[in-house]
Amino acid sequence: MHMLRHSSFLTHPPTSYKNVVMFPPVIMRIDETLAELVAFDTSSDNPTLPLATHIAMWAADLGFDVQRYGDCFEALIIRTQPALKAKRYIGLCGHLDTVPATDGWDTDPLMLTEAMVDGETRYYGLGAQDMKGPVACMMHALEKNQTVPAALALTYNEETDFGGARLLAANAMDILAPMTLIIGEPTQGRIGYAHASYTEWQLTITGKGGHSSDPSNSCNAMYGMACVLQQVKALSERLMQTPYDGFPGAGSMNPGVVRGGDANNRICQSVTMTGDLRLAPGYEPDDTLEELQTGAQRTLQEAGSACSIEVSTVCSYPSFFTSPSHPLIAYLSTITGKEATTLPFSTDAAIFNGEADLPALVCGPGSLDVCHQSNEYITKAGLQRGTAWYTSLLASGVGCMDTSGRL
Ligand SMILES: [Zn+2]
Repeated sequence: MHMLRHSSFLTHPPTSYKNVVMFPPVIMRIDETLAELVAFDTSSDNPTLPLATHIAMWAADLGFDVQRYGDCFEALIIRTQPALKAKRYIGLCGHLDTVPATDGWDTDPLMLTEAMVDGETRYYGLGAQDMKGPVACMMHALEKNQTVPAALALTYNEETDFGGARLLAANAMDILAPMTLIIGEPTQGRIGYAHASYTEWQLTITGKGGHSSDPSNSCNAMYGMACVLQQVKALSERLMQTPYDGFPGAGSMNPGVVRGGDANNRICQSVTMTGDLRLAPGYEPDDTLEELQTGAQRTLQEAGSACSIEVSTVCSYPSFFTSPSHPLIAYLSTITGKEATTLPFSTDAAIFNGEADLPALVCGPGSLDVCHQSNEYITKAGLQRGTAWYTSLLASGVGCMDTSGRL
């Protein structure tokens, strides 16, 4: 994590963007566009409708086709006119929501603030990096490529439950089907082709309660949980030690929260543990959870425990995988100068690729290191690089095919 040098703010007074004029008739500077996006509070649970409306008006003014989905939480698909007749083309993709602002901001999180720090120009603001900065880059790239088939898909609730991507996958597949999606999460230009699935699970041990003075006639669920915890640890270690190309291992399993018992003089009847499970593409969470259930049951029996166990899925998001030999990866590598990689975090690709089977890659400017924390920023160089990458990609025509099937 990169800490802010406060002295830099003193020697380089921040620039305020509060008075940015909305919708000027000329192409705006990228930082002005970003300042507008950041000014809308779209942190989790806040509707994206105002920001989506703002972007929809920008797109309509430029003559783009605009499709709007949802109500107070709104997702958008914006297409150039040539895209309406194209058989295949690139769809740039970002999310409009941000995580909530945490304590510790040195500036107003909703007012983009420019400062020179460590010899680089940075723009501080909530979502500046994740991912309103990349969205601003995409808007500028689309604006510069109005005569080629191209699209911009914008989702909401990516940070919580992928609600926007789910809504688009359920209602807009006819529009999304021709697209190869480039999702602009921060990868520093590396081309993400895969990430793990993510599952939250719950495990409940049920024993028999009673007066603490007579353990012989009861079954303390806490002892049962002690056995089962070892089972979770062993399973996680085995997953982590299983080699899997491009990933640190086949997966990991983390016991996150354990709750149980209600009084010191009562034998604990029930203990619940929740945790997460991350699995590389090709591994099924249900298989691992079934293995946990079966193994834990056996461990309890071997320990002479009469406790019962139940494992269930709380929520689950699929993995994402596009072949590392996909031709677009090689092309993107020549643009960004970076290599292909797997990703340590989930993205909307879980829904668009993992569920809806659309081809997708993840590639954006900037670093994950500054996201989801106070004083989030994107550098001026990052904004310029991102805009240049997306602009070149769209202008190249790579991934485009007209209705006759010609590339
Ligand atoms: Zn993001």
